[in-house]
Amino acid sequence: MKVEVDLDQCEANGICVGFAPDVFDLDDEDQLHILVDDVAPDRLEDVKDAVAQCPKAALKLI
Ligand code: SF4
Repeated sequence: MKVEVDLDQCEANGICVGFAPDVFDLDDEDQLHILVDDVAPDRLEDVKDAVAQCPKAALKLI
């Protein structure tokens, strides 16, 4: 599965980074980057938690 971010919605609060810093990263300008093309199966639970907990609903798994 892949995870996508809607940068128009993201408010750069870093909650997703807290769940999976190997998947999500905020740069010096507070722009979120997705670090992986595909979410590894053993990272899926944390990424699902990040998607569910994003207060802006800016993340989705596809
Ligand atoms: S949790 Fe949502 S709003 Fe916060 S940095 Fe991640 S994508 Fe952006």
